[in-house]
Amino acid sequence: MFEERLLALEAEVAELQQNVRDLFGAVLNRHDKNRERRDGERVMHKITCSQCGDQNATLPFSPVPGREYFCKRCHKNRLSPSDSL
Ligand SMILES: [Zn+2]
Repeated sequence: MFEERLLALEAEVAELQQNVRDLFGAVLNRHDKNRERRDGERVMHKITCSQCGDQNATLPFSPVPGREYFCKRCHKNRLSPSDSL
């Protein structure tokens, strides 16, 4: 009798463990994806700076056609226009 109850409890625990594993798996998968995106091979996309025409400017993301992009220096200048003094 006791054994039966124990078996039922074990089955319940096993099910719970599976649920927890599934949950953690989902969380870990998401975490891995984020980490992959952050630390994984950084694909740099070459662009031409719309301001100074630097053709060696790169973007850490794929450029959208038709949009203006700037090299690091011009981008910084645009963010802090106080340099133009
Ligand atoms: Zn530039």
